[in-house]
Amino acid sequence: MFYMVYVLRQSEHMSNDAPSQQQNLNPRVVTLGTAGGPRWWSADTAAHSRAGIATAVCVGDAVYLVDAGHGVGRQMMLAGLNLRDLRGIFLTHLHSDHTIDLASLAIFGLFELGTPRDTKIALLGPGDRGALPPTSPRATGPVAPLNPASPTPGTREMFGRLVDAFATDLNDRILDSLRPSPHAFFDATDIELPGDIGYHPNDNPTPTMEPFEIYRDDLVTVTAILVEHPPVAPAFAFRFDTAEGSVTISGDTAPCENLVRLARGTDLLLHEVIDFDYMETFYGSDASEVARASLDHHYKSHTGVLDTARLATDAGAARLALHHLVPGNRPRSVWQAAGDAFDGEFYISEDLDVISFARGAAASDSDRENPGKNPGKNPGENSLDNPELAQTSAA
Ligand SMILES: [Zn+2]
Ligand SMILES: [Zn+2]
Repeated sequence: MFYMVYVLRQSEHMSNDAPSQQQNLNPRVVTLGTAGGPRWWSADTAAHSRAGIATAVCVGDAVYLVDAGHGVGRQMMLAGLNLRDLRGIFLTHLHSDHTIDLASLAIFGLFELGTPRDTKIALLGPGDRGALPPTSPRATGPVAPLNPASPTPGTREMFGRLVDAFATDLNDRILDSLRPSPHAFFDATDIELPGDIGYHPNDNPTPTMEPFEIYRDDLVTVTAILVEHPPVAPAFAFRFDTAEGSVTISGDTAPCENLVRLARGTDLLLHEVIDFDYMETFYGSDASEVARASLDHHYKSHTGVLDTARLATDAGAARLALHHLVPGNRPRSVWQAAGDAFDGEFYISEDLDVISFARGAAASDSDRENPGKNPGKNPGENSLDNPELAQTSAA
């Protein structure tokens, strides 16, 4: 197998302490944004107003981001997370709801990050798709792709182009204010797939495979696996293993055995979810081919409520938290069916929740950090309704 593992060497992130010697890491996720889809979910009620999908994985003082949806920088500030503690950004796939605020992190982030460090922030995500997807059979005429010279850029090229698009602003700051370039802080790298899995973006986007390591430092080892989110390819789920617990984040996927393999025995599974009943109602009255193609996409690319419980059970996950809620403005009662079908701890994520993934932590530990997030709580009985609790969970 020939793929690169992003291992931090010679850096302040590597110490002589083996991970097993670390203590009191308080491993936890902060659900910065919990809505899925390329929309603004500002909503029917304040309780169901959600920022775009983004999750902070926190281990001790270190912060790792998974995805960079709408509002991610501001949500980090509201959560009390310092950009200077950010070690890596991991993009599950390049759909815009997962990447739309990557540029704001890199550019507004310049003013939070201070002076460049010896070790850059790793930005890891899918490489170039390598081929356009096939055109939907529902197309009623020719369709033309954008930017035919490079129509499927990967993470590294995307980041470079985003920075270049802001060259007028950035060059003013670099030349006139003597500010550093975003490239001085961020190291964008495409995740290389193992070479022997038979992957092809159109013919075999989700081959049966084993998880593979993509990043390692003194606190975390991150592994990835391909998940099923056609026509997106590659699309990844990620698992963070620490000395004190593990979290697996599904990315966007239909029910997928690779995800179950990655999540085996995990302490917390954060899984995407979609309300198919709502989608049927939403698109049901629209007979256009565009509407039918959209509904087709959702069925082959996302996971229904009850399936999330089955997948978490199959994986032996200790806790299941739903996030990337689609649509982002449905009441909590829609998602609760998954909790009723799952034996472990269950959470319906709200923005800025803190959920422990410490191995074997008692439920009461999680209770303290997640007021209102356990089964049996009433819809709306959550930290967003109570500023005092919201502050507690953001600590
Ligand atoms: Zn998404
Ligand atoms: Zn997606």
